[in-house]
Amino acid sequence: MSVSSTGAALLETGSRLTVDLTAVRANYSLLAARAAPAECAAVVKANAYGLGVERVGPALWEAGARTFFVAHPGEARILRDALPEAVVYALNGLTSGAAPHLDTIGARPVLGSMPEIEEWSAFVQKQGQTGEAAIHIDTGMNRLGLSLEEAASVAKRFSAGELGFRPALVMSHLVIGDEPDHALTQRQLSNFRSAAALFPGVPASLANSAATLTAADFRFDLCRPGIALYGGNPALDRPNPLQPVVTLEARIMQIRSVPAGESVGYGAAETVLRPSTLAIVSAGYADGFLRAAGSSTARKGAEAMIAGQRCPLVGRVSMDLIAVDVTALPDGAVSPGDFATLIGQGITIDELAEHAGTIGYEILTRIGPRSVRIYKD
Ligand SMILES: *Cc1c(COP(=O)(O)O)cnc(C)c1O
Repeated sequence: MSVSSTGAALLETGSRLTVDLTAVRANYSLLAARAAPAECAAVVKANAYGLGVERVGPALWEAGARTFFVAHPGEARILRDALPEAVVYALNGLTSGAAPHLDTIGARPVLGSMPEIEEWSAFVQKQGQTGEAAIHIDTGMNRLGLSLEEAASVAKRFSAGELGFRPALVMSHLVIGDEPDHALTQRQLSNFRSAAALFPGVPASLANSAATLTAADFRFDLCRPGIALYGGNPALDRPNPLQPVVTLEARIMQIRSVPAGESVGYGAAETVLRPSTLAIVSAGYADGFLRAAGSSTARKGAEAMIAGQRCPLVGRVSMDLIAVDVTALPDGAVSPGDFATLIGQGITIDELAEHAGTIGYEILTRIGPRSVRIYKD
């Protein structure tokens, strides 16, 4: 989007989301260096965690990523248009009847059940193709993936040449990737080692962001970071080595005074205790600023940066508006038309998530289409 059309779009909405593609590339480079000698893929499901896969995908490609993971064929199609040469896997599996569709897109399914294996095998043999696909093994998540017994039977058929295709990847997913020493993580690692050994010569993949950064044991041949590319801290008990990627700003519509003892917003959830000055900011839960991050007399909510200072939210988050207490700012420091920073300037997605009782992943993927997207390159 050009500067002038961004300006025009900003007159028609309340907020802007700036995505720093330079930071995305730097985060990829850091992860790739940690992953080496394993390959570092990029997980770009859910529209690159909400940030816009048409722009984020090519930035990751420039940084060196060649293998990408999405959830659905529709996401694979959008990525394929942006990156004609990328290897693209669809994580959520093979929907019955979707094999020709995936094949047309040029995406590989991640096969996670026996019926999916049968359907892909039949499709590939009918078409006489190589039918590259990943095999997902459940090592403890109890979500998608073959059991270890099923994996063993598939491996037998593969070595007998009965499968019709050669698995291009064998993978599993960690339940508590940020705790490498946890008993469950260690059990998954040992289960995955046994499962991967059933498919000699097939590349193996286990690590998400956290496991890519924390312990070499988990890296195998291919790492699959997602959240770390977008600046989220993959292990919250440690300092974050990644650069922040997003800034969310919303316009201040009014500055107003509220006498002591008055409540602010829906439900009269918070009463101001002193004469207060409020900035009324043009973003709310419909923009993905979660209602759970609101404030009440009983429980403090999130903060926003206004005129370079942290200022607390007051009262509930409405659909389209929030109120921020700017009483502590010097006179004239803030005016209508200025922007409040809701994410950025030191307010991380993880901090906002903490206030909303959720995780950085949900903060990012909920940022709504109303925010004008600006890409810094
Ligand atoms: C989302 C996802 C990832 C990436 O996880 P992060 O925690 O975002 O790094 C990797 N593998 C699978 C199977 C996933 O679903």
